[in-house]
Amino acid sequence: LVRLRRRLAGSQNAFGRGLLTLLSRDRLDEDTWEEFENVLLSSDLGVKPTMELVERLRDRLRVEGVADGTRARAVLREELLALVDPTMDRTLAVERGEQPAVVMVVGVNGTGKTTTVGKLARVLVAEDKDVLLGAADTFRAAAADQLETWGGRVGVPVVRGDEGADPASVAFESVRAGIEAEVDVVLIDTAGRLHTKTGLMDELGKVKRVVERQAPVTEVLLVLDATTGQNGLIQARIFAEVVAITGIVLTKLDGSAKGGIVVAVQRELGVPVKLVGLGEGVDDLAPFDAATFVDAVLD
Ligand code: GDP
Repeated sequence: LVRLRRRLAGSQNAFGRGLLTLLSRDRLDEDTWEEFENVLLSSDLGVKPTMELVERLRDRLRVEGVADGTRARAVLREELLALVDPTMDRTLAVERGEQPAVVMVVGVNGTGKTTTVGKLARVLVAEDKDVLLGAADTFRAAAADQLETWGGRVGVPVVRGDEGADPASVAFESVRAGIEAEVDVVLIDTAGRLHTKTGLMDELGKVKRVVERQAPVTEVLLVLDATTGQNGLIQARIFAEVVAITGIVLTKLDGSAKGGIVVAVQRELGVPVKLVGLGEGVDDLAPFDAATFVDAVLD
């Protein structure tokens, strides 16, 4: 969490500071609120949450007759926190039951899916869990190679198939191997081609069905690149139609001032952001915490 705060502080507070500067003006006139809205919109918060936030802030500051910057900051913090929603359950369902917990990681190529699988394996290993990786992105040989590199780095086995093998059969084999080896968690990397939605639908749906012949899929994590804005939201919508998403991983939040996307995507899917990617390194994945995030924004 310390790391999350430090990493986010560098990028997210670009917009947080903008908001605070505006609030500290002597007179909060129409122009100021318009600028305030623009800062929020450029963070990818989305139109509706922006309007709601500004309306609530204006009301509260007026009713409370807030004059000083410290109080205005506190009110802004409360309202931002409410938007990010600290009440959502962000725990990962990775506790072993009778069978290993199975986590499917889905998302469009290039969003950071494979990297996330590697980094998540690292987090779980650090919690003393036995982990196995399944390379069900059989479309690109490089994807399985990349996952094997991560497996080596983190010290966990990787199950892969031949190039062009049926992704569902690789996923099935991975879970079978995981049950046999009595691991705690099987993480399955999937293919992320979006050009034919029906193809993707068939593929991801099939992967899940086939896996569930052996063990329930406990998490389906959707990986989204925080820098892609509206495009990310469109991807989220498509994936959610295909498979029931249980959590969002927002990658590349380092160096991006687009933190508003956290709120936008949670609203879009009605599921929480559970993890955030803060860099390309092995330790650059952190659990998402609403209060830490808002504090980093306003740091
Ligand atoms: P995939 O095609 O979705 O599996 O994407 P990859 O895992 O191959 O990642 C694509 C690129 O994004 C790689 O260069 C990663 O190092 C980079 N990447 C992944 N996650 C993050 C992150 O959180 N921050 C940054 N800065 N780069 C990331």
